[in-house]
Amino acid sequence: MNSRRSFIKNIAFALPAISLAEILLSTSCSKSVDHSHIKRIGIIGAGISGLQAAYLLKQYNKFEIEILEASDVIGGRIQSFTNSNFSSNNNIELGAQVAYGQQNNAWYDIIRKYQPVNLDSKKEKAYVIDETIKAESALSGDADFMKVNSIFNSSLNYASNDVSIEQFMVNNNVPERVKFIYRNNMEANVGGSIDRVSLLMAKEEGLKNSQESHYRLTTTNFSDILTKEYSSVLTKVKTNTVVREIEYVGDVVRVKDQNGVTRTYDKLIVTVPISILKDGDIKFTPALPSAKKEAMDMIGMDAGIRIILKVKNKFWPDDTTVLYSGGDAGVFNIEKDSNGAYILSSLVVGKTAEKMNNRSATNIANDIQADFTALFGAAAGQSIVDSKVVFWSDMPYIKGTYSYQKVGGSMNNRVELSKAINNKIFFAGEATNANGKSGSIHGAMETANRVTTEVLASL
Ligand SMILES: Cc1cc2nc3c(=O)[nH]c(=O)nc-3n(C[C@H](O)[C@H](O)[C@H](O)COP(=O)(O)OP(=O)(O)OC[C@H]3O[C@@H](n4cnc5c(N)ncnc54)[C@H](O)[C@@H]3O)c2cc1C
Repeated sequence: MNSRRSFIKNIAFALPAISLAEILLSTSCSKSVDHSHIKRIGIIGAGISGLQAAYLLKQYNKFEIEILEASDVIGGRIQSFTNSNFSSNNNIELGAQVAYGQQNNAWYDIIRKYQPVNLDSKKEKAYVIDETIKAESALSGDADFMKVNSIFNSSLNYASNDVSIEQFMVNNNVPERVKFIYRNNMEANVGGSIDRVSLLMAKEEGLKNSQESHYRLTTTNFSDILTKEYSSVLTKVKTNTVVREIEYVGDVVRVKDQNGVTRTYDKLIVTVPISILKDGDIKFTPALPSAKKEAMDMIGMDAGIRIILKVKNKFWPDDTTVLYSGGDAGVFNIEKDSNGAYILSSLVVGKTAEKMNNRSATNIANDIQADFTALFGAAAGQSIVDSKVVFWSDMPYIKGTYSYQKVGGSMNNRVELSKAINNKIFFAGEATNANGKSGSIHGAMETANRVTTEVLASL
């Protein structure tokens, strides 16, 4: 019940003037609906937006729904790693790992149903500065450290000509020895290289997450919750079905997969990552409108690598939950599992990830071990007992982390991207969120809610 309430609340948020029930009733009873013909609705992608759209449409009991998923699993950019030898907590996330804030966050409402979550807002940070680990509390006398934090905060209020986040850093003379703090803070939120991301748009989008509380699970994980919450539509998912062509000439939409099998739908919802559309991995006939292509050019999606370390003994100050490593591995979130091991997790994005992409997982882990040994002594290096490295840009149906706007971008790009074509092809997925919630789970859910109302209204 709770989830239904939160979903309705969420759609109502997107469409304040009209209730969802009114829209759905008016469209479903509309004289244009041919009740003798059950409408076939295809959904491409079984990430959160595809599953949510199927879940909503299924409530009407009047559609044949099929979700075509290229990979062999559901979840898309929500993927948990459950290996009890690695961690007894069962809560390691390879993709999305936190819910940002509680307000208007349908994902928060869902995870809260399955497990009371930890409020992760009390972060005890430590920084590797000048080759020494220092707790944040010990840095209040460090002028450079105070300056970088103040510049980060001032960027949240930036209102002048659009510049890249990096340009803002340069313009404000962030001191060299603390530049990594600024870069890490920014990239952790925007998911792209700071020299590519628009500061004005980041302020409206990803950077808002830096001001929210971050909610994590403790004894279960996002994939598990996804499977439970969307159990009613999992039978609709056809995995290992890579959509290669979409033809929308005439009354129906024809979708061809990698084996040449063609499926026909009355309506099609496309939820694939923007990287897939930008790379032309799906051929549209007719081609996508030029306005959509131009909008896509202004939206980026960079490489990303999730690095997870299992560490036996801590070598950081007591109670630290966030460690700014100063090296390529960036910022580690630290958690203790029920067996007493520490699980360190970082996400490297953009140019740093591109640089690391041609190295093997083992090499990356070995380099971090060597860094820790050099900085903190042999005991620190030896305390790393296991590692897992995931290259998100190597995933052929994801190809990166999440979308951001380039310098000069505007919310119109996302509006344009989200526009339906010929009342037959509809676009959802995080990159189409024009409410400032792109790059998030709850933002992707909002786009599913929007697209559902669009499909219903089109019948
Ligand atoms: C490393 C990482 C960390 C993140 N951290 C957070 C976080 O902490 N909190 C948060 O809220 N968000 C986070 N995000 C963002 C969040 O995960 C995404 O915004 C959200 O999951 C996207 O959902 P989606 O449905 O739009 O797309 P996806 O989950 O990408 O789903 C799209 C699906 O389409 C499939 N597909 C692609 N091509 C084809 C094709 N040709 N045919 C058929 N299927 C195809 C894909 O396999 C995929 O399953 C993170 C993302 C990443 C990668």
